[in-house]
Amino acid sequence: MPLTARRPTHWSWRTLLPWALVILPLLIGTPALRWQAERELEAQSHSAALQVLQQAERILDHLSTAARALLPLVGQPCERASLALRAEVTRNAFVRSTVLFDQERVYCTSLLGGYDEAVDVDDYTEGTLWLMDGNSVTPGHPLMIYRMGEARRGVLVTVDGEHLLTFLRLYGEDLALQIRVGEHWLGADGQVHAGTPPTPAHALAKLASTRYPISTQAGFKENLSLVFMLSHYPALFALLLGIGLLAGSACRWQIRRASSSRAELERALQADEFIPYLQPVVRSGDYHWAGVEVLMRWQHPREGLVRPDLFIPYAEHSGQIVAMTRALMERTARSLAPFAALLDDGFHIAFNITADHCRNLALLDDCAQFLAQFPPGRVALTLELTERKLIEPDAATLELFAKLHDMGVMIALDDFGTGQSSLNYLHQFNIDYLKIDRSFVAMIGGEALSLHILDSIIELCEKLGLGIVAEGVETPEQRDYLARHEVEYQQGYLFARPMPVADFLTALAARPGPPALSARTPPEIIRD
Ligand code: C2E
Ligand code: CA
Ligand code: CA
Repeated sequence: MPLTARRPTHWSWRTLLPWALVILPLLIGTPALRWQAERELEAQSHSAALQVLQQAERILDHLSTAARALLPLVGQPCERASLALRAEVTRNAFVRSTVLFDQERVYCTSLLGGYDEAVDVDDYTEGTLWLMDGNSVTPGHPLMIYRMGEARRGVLVTVDGEHLLTFLRLYGEDLALQIRVGEHWLGADGQVHAGTPPTPAHALAKLASTRYPISTQAGFKENLSLVFMLSHYPALFALLLGIGLLAGSACRWQIRRASSSRAELERALQADEFIPYLQPVVRSGDYHWAGVEVLMRWQHPREGLVRPDLFIPYAEHSGQIVAMTRALMERTARSLAPFAALLDDGFHIAFNITADHCRNLALLDDCAQFLAQFPPGRVALTLELTERKLIEPDAATLELFAKLHDMGVMIALDDFGTGQSSLNYLHQFNIDYLKIDRSFVAMIGGEALSLHILDSIIELCEKLGLGIVAEGVETPEQRDYLARHEVEYQQGYLFARPMPVADFLTALAARPGPPALSARTPPEIIRD
């Protein structure tokens, strides 16, 4: 369909919808990606807490091995034990110092030899571990002491906090990691703090050792899911944006096409460009013209004569078909009424209607106005309703069809055989005629089975007392077959193609007919 010139943009659903479609995939996809990012961050946090815990356990295993090796020395004089204490420090990478205590007092250390200091078992969580912020040798430097032995005597093995800090600092600044022993905890700042560590804002992971009184905690200081998402899924974001842009562009194209079609049809309606073409319907037997079907054509200023199948679907979609049919009926009446004398009484004039016409009772007025322009009884108005798109038999449509009948308007079911109307449907809508679709007529001359379908349709019509019109009759063989099977009316290229009103009137005036009719010479015929 030709398009109209661009109209100024205004913010309506037509302009907003494509943009909505652009962002829709992002709107749906972003929460999903964010959820994914949060799971990833949680996994990172958990993995970091686990690695630090496993590392701490490994170090404690070393301390425990060293302590166990030294335990038999407890009680021995320091001069005899000190060499073994130092040897353990040298042998074990994680052991910074070793100490023997007895009677709750330190009496020998690897560093100083003989030494005296109180040992309080209560300083040690579960009597085993003490996380402290330094001792007299290295004040302010984190230490962890592992204690093994009985209540009053045993071994102390110390590890330098640096070994733990290495792992706490391995994951960068965003991930906060802490090691906790009892009421003390060590963070990446290298300080031992008392109390409970601050809970990180996001993706908190807490793990506790089953072998030592130690636990780790990890989490992100702020919600990094958005940053994570953007940095880790750029391709997915690009894809979502791409899909959005594609959907938005397709929608915009479709809307522009539809709205420009709508505007173009509106313009054509105002310019009275929809014109009637008439295709005669003949009576079997004498093959005189018993009526016409009015077929719409678009006399387009640039494209010339446009076929209905190129614009009727748009008009049906936009709802403009109702106004277009009204204009077509008015124009047909205007062109034919002055020559009503050429028509036999009860001459059938059929218009095609659609479901849109059945939504209210306006069609009644259109039909009344059409009929009012002809002498009473001169024309019989028929409305053809296609079986391809069946309408719902609701109260409003049934009322419309009943009132149409009261007015003497007849209803024909068009393209019969192509849809799925039931007998009940035919009855409810008071169908007067069935128009057998041309695909069935084309079966004449073909194989027997196909022909059997056509025969069944004809038989059905007879049983139901419905009139029959056979469409698309193109050959004498088809014509004669249909006549033999008492199909009352026929329509097709064999008799006449759809033609402008002027041609129809000229042909009508020239046709041989009853004397009264041939005497009726048309005055000047105005050509469409
Ligand atoms: P339809 O109502 O089934 O109209 C019959 C179509 O068959 C017409 O095509 C006609 O030209 C064509 N035809 C007639 N005899 C023969 C034949 O012997 N052989 C072949 N091959 N074709 C034949 P047309 O005029 O192109 O119309 C096509 C369709 O467009 C119509 O099918 C109808 O569904 C729709 N249409 C036409 N005018 C209107 C209208 O005013 N309103 C509505 N709603 N639809 C219309
Ligand atoms: Ca039709
Ligand atoms: Ca048809």
